[in-house]
Amino acid sequence: MTKQWRAERLSQLPPYLFVEIDRRKRQAIEAGKDVINLGIGDPDAATHGFIVDRMANEIRQPANHRYPNGAGVAEFIDAALAFFKRRFGVVLDGGRITALIGSKEGIGHLPLAVVNPGDGVLIPEPGYPVYTAATIFAGGVPHLMPLTAENHWLPDFGAIPADVARHARLMFLNYPNNPTGAVADIEFFETAVQFARDNDMLIAHDAAYTEVFFETTPSSILEIAGAEDCCIEFHSLSKSFNMTGWRSAFAVGNRDAIAALAKVKDNVDSGQFNAIQFASAEALNHTDHVSVRAMSDLYRERRDLAVGELRDMGIEVEKPEASFYVWAKCPEAYPSMETVAKVLDDAAVVVIPGTGFGAGGEGYFRIALTVDTDRMRQAMERMKNIAW
Ligand SMILES: *Cc1c(COP(=O)(O)O)cnc(C)c1O
Repeated sequence: MTKQWRAERLSQLPPYLFVEIDRRKRQAIEAGKDVINLGIGDPDAATHGFIVDRMANEIRQPANHRYPNGAGVAEFIDAALAFFKRRFGVVLDGGRITALIGSKEGIGHLPLAVVNPGDGVLIPEPGYPVYTAATIFAGGVPHLMPLTAENHWLPDFGAIPADVARHARLMFLNYPNNPTGAVADIEFFETAVQFARDNDMLIAHDAAYTEVFFETTPSSILEIAGAEDCCIEFHSLSKSFNMTGWRSAFAVGNRDAIAALAKVKDNVDSGQFNAIQFASAEALNHTDHVSVRAMSDLYRERRDLAVGELRDMGIEVEKPEASFYVWAKCPEAYPSMETVAKVLDDAAVVVIPGTGFGAGGEGYFRIALTVDTDRMRQAMERMKNIAW
């Protein structure tokens, strides 16, 4: 037998359900079907022109062709800190921030920086799969916090057994939430910070969607007094500025946690391309640019259309107040995977099974508002004709 060049820790990762969906999607496309993809959460619009223009200039500067400033060039750090003050009213200093190569990179590396083997990590479920994978890579022990409709998709800290809470070193939170679209209010963040303090754990708040919002203005957990003692927060330019491909983000918050994360990064990467950091500074300095602001209106139009049509079909769905996801209940008697398979087979529309975000997502499916309104209308028309 040939040697398997594959570490055992990879076998500990939960199954990746999207592979099966992807296979079926490719089959449909090969069969000549006009597939509408409401699956991936990747903005359909191009990065705003003023950001691309800055990049075009920076890429011609030979100084930018050298190794980057890993922690972040001054202009990027200043822009991020100014954004934080303007948007959340929180004043941070330079020791409380580090640049990242996308927030997934930072989230993925955080457990290596702050979790010892055997430490517990509290993880919301359904949730972004990276929290569990990163925990396992660091030898941490995942403890799932179920998110339910009854609790408005917020974890119930009272339901966490005392010994689990005491042994937990880290807790992931994510609001506005992917996949449910739920928003946490400032009272929830206050409760979360108190819980973390009582149990001596660090909160990692994944705030990738704070700038994609409609009726409510999402908060930063760092708005809570004293939160920087026990919180680190991840911000990303990906969803805010249609920059998923650029890989640009930053982490802010607790000084020790930021330093620990930076230390891991010093040993595995050499930072983000300086040209991208300058273009990202341009983005953060212009959050009120008309083209940036226009995105919310686009997503809102698509959201209202999708939610209205799904309700007409008899599908139970809440109107998300932020993020670009609609989290919908599967038709009676259809588990997530069967719902998704039927929507693909009968309507050539790709949606994501709730179980792709953990077993707690069973009975739901997610659609992303990342196709234009006409295409969304077409997808809804097709889904209407499905005989459940
Ligand atoms: C998209 C997304 C991210 C990561 O974005 P990056 O492109 O890596 O900055 C992080 N968390 C959640 C929940 C996301 O949906």
